[in-house]
Amino acid sequence: MAPALTARQSALLEFLRSCDGELSGQALHGRLREAGVTIGLATVYRHLRTLQQQGLIRCRHLPNGEALYAPLERDVHHLTCLECGRSSELPLCPVGSVSVGEHLPAGFQPLFHTLEIYGLCAGCAAPAAALPTREPTPDRDGAE
Ligand SMILES: [Zn+2]
Ligand SMILES: [Zn+2]
Repeated sequence: MAPALTARQSALLEFLRSCDGELSGQALHGRLREAGVTIGLATVYRHLRTLQQQGLIRCRHLPNGEALYAPLERDVHHLTCLECGRSSELPLCPVGSVSVGEHLPAGFQPLFHTLEIYGLCAGCAAPAAALPTREPTPDRDGAE
């Protein structure tokens, strides 16, 4: 099966487990350096990729493309507001209660899943009182 982790990779995994929430590769790299670990950013990303392929960590992408990493057991999903970009945590994992096993192609080995729900937060979905008033668009030719 999967080859054993190197000492460096195990240490990285343990470090990620000791952190709260999820971290970008860059933030993880910063924390490692703060902790006195000398490691290159490219190496951090390479190890993160290996850990993902071994099904030990999960990764999700923010709308801005930034990837966030968390240990596999931290099965947390997010509601993200498209307007202000704020994320809040979903208090459960709806995926866990769905059995997809029988629908997977033969031989496919699932490692982790992601689930993001996008929408508008309460603040952004509130009545448009705070929005600047716009002139009604003249629309004389359009509608029949
Ligand atoms: Zn919002
Ligand atoms: Zn989940």
